[in-house]
Amino acid sequence: MKLEKVKEVVQVNSSFWKCCKYCSALKLSEDSVEEQINHYLRHGLKLLHVGTESSRSPEGEVWQSTVAVLGKE
Ligand SMILES: [Zn+2]
Repeated sequence: MKLEKVKEVVQVNSSFWKCCKYCSALKLSEDSVEEQINHYLRHGLKLLHVGTESSRSPEGEVWQSTVAVLGKE
């Protein structure tokens, strides 16, 4: 897939609860990042990027999240 053909991107994050953008089947609070990615792949999206993101809690604690960006043509 060529990046310039991507019309829409979806980001999944292991730390945040989000519903599937395209259906109501996904309860992301219960699913791992892999399951979230696999779910979006089944909607025809392609994986563009996987990485980690550092966040900081209000208490100043740092934690790592796994993030993935998927694109739809
Ligand atoms: Zn879905």
